[in-house]
Amino acid sequence: MKKVLFVSSEVYPFAKSGGLADVSYSLSKELSKNYTVDIILPLYSSIDRTNITYHNSVNFVMAGVSYKADIYISTYNDLNYYFIYHPLLCDREFLYGSGDMGYEDNDVRFGLFCYAISLIAKEYNLVHLNDWQSALVALLLKDSGIKTIFTIHNLAYQGQFAKSTLYKLGLGDEYFHHDELEFFGDINLLKAGIKYSDIITTVSPTYAKEIQTKELGFGLDGFLKKYAHKLSGILNAIDTKLFDPKNDPYLSKKISSYESKMHYKKEVLKFFGLRDHTKALFIFIGRLTSQKGLDLLVETLSSTNIDANFIFLGSGESKYIEMLELLATNHKNIAFKSIYDEALSHKLYAGTNFLLMPSLFEPCGLNQFIAMRYGTIPIVTKVGGLNDSVKNITTFKENSKHSYGFVLSEATPKKLTSAITKAITLYNTDITKVAKHNMLMDYSWSSSAKKYLQIYKKLI
Ligand code: ADP
Repeated sequence: MKKVLFVSSEVYPFAKSGGLADVSYSLSKELSKNYTVDIILPLYSSIDRTNITYHNSVNFVMAGVSYKADIYISTYNDLNYYFIYHPLLCDREFLYGSGDMGYEDNDVRFGLFCYAISLIAKEYNLVHLNDWQSALVALLLKDSGIKTIFTIHNLAYQGQFAKSTLYKLGLGDEYFHHDELEFFGDINLLKAGIKYSDIITTVSPTYAKEIQTKELGFGLDGFLKKYAHKLSGILNAIDTKLFDPKNDPYLSKKISSYESKMHYKKEVLKFFGLRDHTKALFIFIGRLTSQKGLDLLVETLSSTNIDANFIFLGSGESKYIEMLELLATNHKNIAFKSIYDEALSHKLYAGTNFLLMPSLFEPCGLNQFIAMRYGTIPIVTKVGGLNDSVKNITTFKENSKHSYGFVLSEATPKKLTSAITKAITLYNTDITKVAKHNMLMDYSWSSSAKKYLQIYKKLI
């Protein structure tokens, strides 16, 4: 079997800050049915080393400095996971930085990650890179004959640093050009992945188009347009074993039907100090950052008194933590916990009626898939992967293969209030029909993985 190295800065269950970790885990597992796929990530200090052992070391020179990175290995779900350890890269409290701020030396941290990968890559036919943290590998391998595919999970994160980064990464002035890594006088590492990879993918067909526009191109729309011939969008999916309401490893009581959600509704209401399980329950789960539509949510919920319960679970920017704390203090039907808790998130998906996801942009989003599989109906904006995965409930057909939710035509408090009001009406009437329909739909990788496999086959 041909060998693929899947490179990611976070992979569930070892290190996770968002959807990239879920996708790295579930997509690589699916692709390993056709290829030998090894996964590689940094050995962050937060990773439990119990079943991880030393493998070997690689030595390299970056910008005149000699580095030795240690490679560790573990087998998980029958796949080989490799981990790169270097104190600079790994001995930190957070993966990338805290809340709003990335670590200042993230260029050197992920630069040495990429240099180490470029050496290990020699044993593989294809290297699958993900996001800016591994983008430099495409440049480092450009003359190696090893094929690279680069997946953009979120264009908002580009690895932008001052010009001096070029020299810290051992790159010459020839790269300080707008056709190379230069970006408005700075250095942009994502551009290395875009320019030097053989194929670029992003995580939904709609997002592949959106990132070529001024509004959602984050300054890279022109550059992406230039490479549009090798860019396509493939919709993400979820691991339907991990997110299986009937057999969820995080749930002791299984969700065998829509009705059995009530057990967890009562449990999460109690946990969050809310009352009255007969009322509709809306949740928000996600990174606390403007992308997720938090300004709209807070504005809408602080100015209206809606007869339902609302739970917010998320970690992220201090600005939103303060806003949500205030919102919860002022409304006894709104609760908020600023924590990252995988087990609790599964209970919330299981016990809730509606998911609030009015993102300003959403490359793909995974929450909506998880929610729909657990009989929780999403309220979404018509952007990116949300547009590709949630059909408006007004077009609901019982025999269709689509999943349904409330799709906002505009991200305004008026439209959001109206959707929430309509959701409560549905809750009091026909929710079971829609929820049960959504629970039966296919959210697995089966169809999207085929598209990645076609690309792999074309490349190697
Ligand atoms: P993004 O990658 O932009 O953060 P996605 O929707 O692609 O968003 O993926 C988010 C993933 O992270 C989902 O699996 C979601 O359940 C999970 N998640 C986000 N915040 C939390 C949290 N505070 N606690 C538990 N899980 C979370």
